Amino acid sequence: MQTKPFNSFEMAQAQFESVAGQLGLDAGVRQLLGWPLREYSFAIPVRMDDGSVQVFRGYRVQHNDARGPCKGGIRFHPMETLDTVRALAMWMTWKCAVVDIPLGGAKGGVVCDPHNLTEWEQEQICRGFVRQIAGNMGPTQDVPAPDVMTSAQHMLWMLDEFESIHRARLPGFITGKPVELGGSMGRREATGYGVVFTIREALKELGLRAQDTRASVQGFGNVAQHAISLYRQMGGTVIAVSCWDQEDQVAYTFRKKEGIDLEELLGIADRFGGIDDSKARDLGYETLPGEAWLEQEVEILIPAALENQVSAENVDRIRDSVKLIAEGANGPIGPKADAAIKERDIFVIPDLLANAGGVTCSYFEQVQSNMNYFWEKDEVLGKLDVKMTSAFIAVSDLAKRDNLHMRDAAYVIAVSRVAQACRDRGWV
Ligand code: NAD
Repeated sequence: MQTKPFNSFEMAQAQFESVAGQLGLDAGVRQLLGWPLREYSFAIPVRMDDGSVQVFRGYRVQHNDARGPCKGGIRFHPMETLDTVRALAMWMTWKCAVVDIPLGGAKGGVVCDPHNLTEWEQEQICRGFVRQIAGNMGPTQDVPAPDVMTSAQHMLWMLDEFESIHRARLPGFITGKPVELGGSMGRREATGYGVVFTIREALKELGLRAQDTRASVQGFGNVAQHAISLYRQMGGTVIAVSCWDQEDQVAYTFRKKEGIDLEELLGIADRFGGIDDSKARDLGYETLPGEAWLEQEVEILIPAALENQVSAENVDRIRDSVKLIAEGANGPIGPKADAAIKERDIFVIPDLLANAGGVTCSYFEQVQSNMNYFWEKDEVLGKLDVKMTSAFIAVSDLAKRDNLHMRDAAYVIAVSRVAQACRDRGWV
């Protein structure tokens, strides 16, 4: 029998439906929140460096804006689908609500692989994306940000195109800008640091000290690198990281049982977060299969790569030593695996809470851009810590009070806030 391919949007809808049932939401609210408010799918024709024309597919999905303008990244990925973008847009709505910032949820994507595109071709994709959607996005409607395989440079090309179309300087159109051009200090670190602020709070609840713990991380990109950095500053030891090898077209796990050296690995990683396997071996790292990050003898797992990485097929590989999983990535644990993890009573910090540091800092960037007054890095990260810690405590208090798992408690808080905003506006 052929198994049905994994669909992130079906998973996001099932999560929502389960919370809607718990909250007793009526049919109108369920229909409204179970689907995006608006979605756009368009072609981006690009004249390639060799003179040929290639047409890329772009998506922008605005899930809900009852609590404020939509907010969400734009990812470049060869396997991008409309359903993935829908799921990510819905998760953004819940994420903004759980950390209580006045924004709604959106997401965008382009089906492309930047590994095989020149700078110029990528710039044309960015500008083409904005030309297709400039009327439906903007500081008061929908504000994009970087995501998988997009950077501050991509944001700047998009901003420049948007400002050319509108013949005005509109820095609030986009976040994740370079610091010298209206970006916020601390944005690069924000998501990974946010993951670790929540890990710090969870460790307190579990009665563990960071210096007595080890972690294994999937991914070695923006989120993973900064999470590893702060976790190590707290005294923790990372023994394994896994990442995608573009040349071999497989994922590898790099392990050093006495603890990886972040700076050393950064020195042999490319800008996509891929580690050079032969150089890693020279530096004394064991090279294991991609999924090996999951089966390490550690207390903490940090999936920080892509969605659906822990599934019914591999969840049993998680060792009994694991006490905590912090979801740096969006949707890294599939529903069946999630049920198995609940059974085993492993403490999970769900994605919508754990990785909300990025959007929280993007919100700070908007605030600073609007004031045209920019905070020092310490101030940004201090405010981020306060936001993340209070969100963690609110979720954990509800979980304890109503005997819920952290994911369910986070969803209950987020969905109730969004449903209330829709009711208050008279939409449902
Ligand atoms: P990135 O592109 O910087 O890094 C992704 C990393 O994952 C790379 O190291 C890549 O090698 C690795 N990877 C890809 N496929 C893999 C596989 N099969 N096995 C092992 N490793 C693999 O992306 P990022 O910005 O760090 O984002 C990672 C995740 O976090 C995504 O789910 C993203 O949606 C989510 N997220 C990112 C942010 C942010 O601010 N960057 C915010 C919230 C959530």
